[in-house]
Amino acid sequence: MDASHISSELTEVLYTNEQVQARLAEIAGEIDAEYADKDVLLVGVLNGAVMVMADLSRHLTSHVNMDWMAISSYGSGTQSSGVVRILKDLNTDIEGRHVLVVEDIIDTGLTLAYLMQNLKSRRPASLEIMTMFRKPEALRSQVDVKYVGFDLPNEFVVGYGLDYAGRYRNLTDVGTLAPHVYS
Ligand code: IMP
Repeated sequence: MDASHISSELTEVLYTNEQVQARLAEIAGEIDAEYADKDVLLVGVLNGAVMVMADLSRHLTSHVNMDWMAISSYGSGTQSSGVVRILKDLNTDIEGRHVLVVEDIIDTGLTLAYLMQNLKSRRPASLEIMTMFRKPEALRSQVDVKYVGFDLPNEFVVGYGLDYAGRYRNLTDVGTLAPHVYS
């Protein structure tokens, strides 16, 4: 579904799917160049990164491997708690591999800081991060992000994999929720 199907539930469309795809194509070009002589393993963080992983990987012009992790950052609603639990681990041994973590959004960076520490301890040859969206708070975190799709304002957004109470992941565009949806 696109934003026109649920226009009463959105205050604003921040990025259309066309804008997201155009930006992903640019980033894919950078990744292709960076990993030209290396085998890269894309690690997607479930569930939010499903859309980014699917589209980014198809914009790439070289072979990649993909694997997935599922982590829960405790807390519901619109706040991240920073307490993280691994729900599904990788199927791949990443020692000596070139790993690129693919994320949907970085807000406080707490979830990713935990994940990066965990992955680093498995001794990959390299470990970098690509995120589709980044919020202002993330700039204060310790996590070094190599590829960023778009910087967002400090608002709760949905669509393109991002949910509110489990919904809106299948919205192709990205927008801010109308206040009446929260209450
Ligand atoms: P962080 O630990 O604060 O960086 O939170 C990261 C996680 O919080 C993301 O993977 C999302 O699941 C969720 N999140 C943060 N901001 C938003 C948002 O605006 N919309 C939907 N989910 C969000």
